[in-house]
Amino acid sequence: MGLFERKSSSPPAFPPSPSSVINAPAAPKATPEAAPQAASSGGPKAQVISFANQKGGVAKTTTTLNLAVAFAEKGNRVLCVDLDPQSNLTMSQGIDPDSLELSMYDVLVNRVSIREVIRKREIDVACSSIDLAGAEIAMSTQIGRERSLQKAFAPILEDYDFICIDTPPSLGLITINALTASNKVIVPVQCEYLSMRGLIQLQNTVAMVKEDLNPNLEIEGILPTLVDTRTVHAKEAIEILEENFGDRVFASRITKTVRFAEAPVKGMSVLKYDPDGKAAFAYRRLAEEVLGHGSR
Ligand code: ADP
Ligand code: MG
Repeated sequence: MGLFERKSSSPPAFPPSPSSVINAPAAPKATPEAAPQAASSGGPKAQVISFANQKGGVAKTTTTLNLAVAFAEKGNRVLCVDLDPQSNLTMSQGIDPDSLELSMYDVLVNRVSIREVIRKREIDVACSSIDLAGAEIAMSTQIGRERSLQKAFAPILEDYDFICIDTPPSLGLITINALTASNKVIVPVQCEYLSMRGLIQLQNTVAMVKEDLNPNLEIEGILPTLVDTRTVHAKEAIEILEENFGDRVFASRITKTVRFAEAPVKGMSVLKYDPDGKAAFAYRRLAEEVLGHGSR
């Protein structure tokens, strides 16, 4: 019997304890005005959102960038943080990672100011380079290694309304740093059976981070991506997601279109590359959902 069974044929096979994390009552919707982090003397602080799924190719990077640009279109100040050594987000904004003298590696490992690695593009980008592949080993002996990113953010939290973190396809120390520094996690899921199984592992990691490192962490939502509306399989996969995760599944769906492959080649978001297309519209709608103006 599979992990994700339909309700009609059997009770949900989802493990009850970690699922309580994901099914916890919905947190109030974020607004840029909200001050989610510990209060300080200054103004409102950034809402920090990680985009995580240990599976590669599920549209983490695409979602981080395009949702970030959609927030920016609505007048928000947005920073994207590229934490993947493959640097896809950095490259998607037309930045050559090999040309960088400093990257998020230096921020995490050598405590360089994050301002030193931020480039201004459609949104601000804290850039990654291949060096990040060695960051987990370099950090592994450091005291407070799970909190390096959280510390790096402290001086810039008031400079932004949203900080969107693109994570690598693993649940290692880099992703733990992202989750520890975040208020919310958005989980892009490719609507296929095998992709959905990995959600249990991710859910367990979020539960551990919540318990030991960051009690404020919430799963903002699960985003069906790469949806092929022509197939019955995709339709069923979304139904199974909704049966197991209820209103934690966003109402927004990101359907498959070649625009997502074309835009990064031009160093642009889909919202800039094809502003009136369906793909841009889908991420604008998602932004409205996250901002609490849309419906679930
Ligand atoms: P991840 O960061 O999870 O590895 P990416 O965002 O890099 O995933 O997406 C994986 C691939 O799928 C990329 O080539 C990207 O251009 C493509 N892609 C992402 N979203 C879509 C979509 N909605 N339709 C078609 N291709 C997409
Ligand atoms: Mg990626």
